[in-house]
Amino acid sequence: MKIANKKVTAERLVKDALAKAKHFEDYHIFTFIDEEGALERAREIDKRIAAGEKVGRLAGVPYALKDNFLSPRGETTASAHILEGFTAPVTATAVKRLEDEGAIMIGRTNLDAFAHGSSTENSYFGPTLNSHDRERVAGGSSGGSAVAVALDIVEFATGTDTGGSIRQPASFNGIYGLKPTYGTVSRYGVVAMASSTDCIGFFTKTPDDMDLLMSVAAGRDPKDMTTLPDYYNEDDSQTDLSSTSLTRSRLYGARSLRTASEPSGTRSRKDCLRIGIIKEFDNESVHPEIRRALKEKCELLKKKGHEIVELEMPALKYGLAAYYILVPAEVASNLSRHDGVRYGFRSEKAVDMDSMYGETRSEGFMPENKRRIMIGNFVLSSGFYDAYFLKAAKARTLIVEEYAKAFEKCDFILTPVSPNPAFKLGEKVNDPVAMYLEDVMSVSLNLAGVPGLAIPAGETPEGISLGLQLVGPRRSDKALLEFAKELE
Ligand code: GLN
Repeated sequence: MKIANKKVTAERLVKDALAKAKHFEDYHIFTFIDEEGALERAREIDKRIAAGEKVGRLAGVPYALKDNFLSPRGETTASAHILEGFTAPVTATAVKRLEDEGAIMIGRTNLDAFAHGSSTENSYFGPTLNSHDRERVAGGSSGGSAVAVALDIVEFATGTDTGGSIRQPASFNGIYGLKPTYGTVSRYGVVAMASSTDCIGFFTKTPDDMDLLMSVAAGRDPKDMTTLPDYYNEDDSQTDLSSTSLTRSRLYGARSLRTASEPSGTRSRKDCLRIGIIKEFDNESVHPEIRRALKEKCELLKKKGHEIVELEMPALKYGLAAYYILVPAEVASNLSRHDGVRYGFRSEKAVDMDSMYGETRSEGFMPENKRRIMIGNFVLSSGFYDAYFLKAAKARTLIVEEYAKAFEKCDFILTPVSPNPAFKLGEKVNDPVAMYLEDVMSVSLNLAGVPGLAIPAGETPEGISLGLQLVGPRRSDKALLEFAKELE
């Protein structure tokens, strides 16, 4: 890695990031830019460095925050009208952990309102454009975060992944996106979509950077009862994540958050891994360029001495249907708190309390939010609960078991993230079922709680990014990233 000799200050890094953000303004990446706050924090860090004080592992690193993470810096809107004007009184645990290490948030990024969507076209603020082709979608729901990293505005960005919202936009923009094992990073202070599948993760340009961010963010949080013990950092003795070399390199202008001076190859790993390929995901409905990318990667893996194992996972065919029953059910309950009383926007049309709820919700939510609230309440209603919700919950159990069985036959699974690369803006936004079908390969991981890492896999002849995802058993996140480094 190139380490420039010229000293770079945190202020310089932040100024550059802000200038780039401005340059790409028409991509609709940000819902808010914190110019003053970011510069102030950068100067503070520079002062501390000049005074010889200890600074964190991410000192001076500019990042972008998906606008569904609570923090008092700017309004947290989740790209929804109903949250406009809402400034959070608390800070999400993930944000706190990043900023305690010195990371500097330069802005909040656009998403599908409340993270409902696969293209960022459901945003109240308009769609984010794809980093490689302005006529195509950024992917979603974390489209703004993915494009902020892909266009090199920031070193990393946060995301949430309930059914693919990190992995799919990462693959649509040619970068890395990790949905960790459920419970690895605290959900405290993140606008809830579906609490049983929501995962907090990141977008980066390298697996090394992802590894560092995970080591910062992972671990038990007393404020989120579903967080796991810090398995991610338990086995840290073999990897040097020590702050000093990193911070120095970053502030001296290294391209990666980590440095070449770190020892490499010190991890002991089995030489030959068994990589599973899901038979059900290899068919005519998958874009030929994605199938080609998958084949090429398999060839590469074989050349490196790994074994390719074909998996039959028939329960996955229930994944999408189960997801689009269970998730709306949780969405309906989580969104019931938005009533015009407690947060953000309240309709002017209200004449009494009932109409205040009704008008506020009807003006404040996007059509896709309303669709999910209606489906969710329907599948939970007495008379339909057994037929829909309960059946979907059973299908979920089958999917959990299917992954457990698969990981007896292989170490990791390699599959596409989605059946198509980035589609054209407007192509699917008025056809919810077509949009949902794009999630067919991503949602089952969330239902099973297993980690998935989107890795870049080249481009189509027209220059559209392609991505694949590596899937591992629960708590294999670190090993997944190690394997991705090998494939880099
Ligand atoms: N695209 C999926 C959906 O619309 C996933 C969204 C997400 O992960 N937040 O539900």
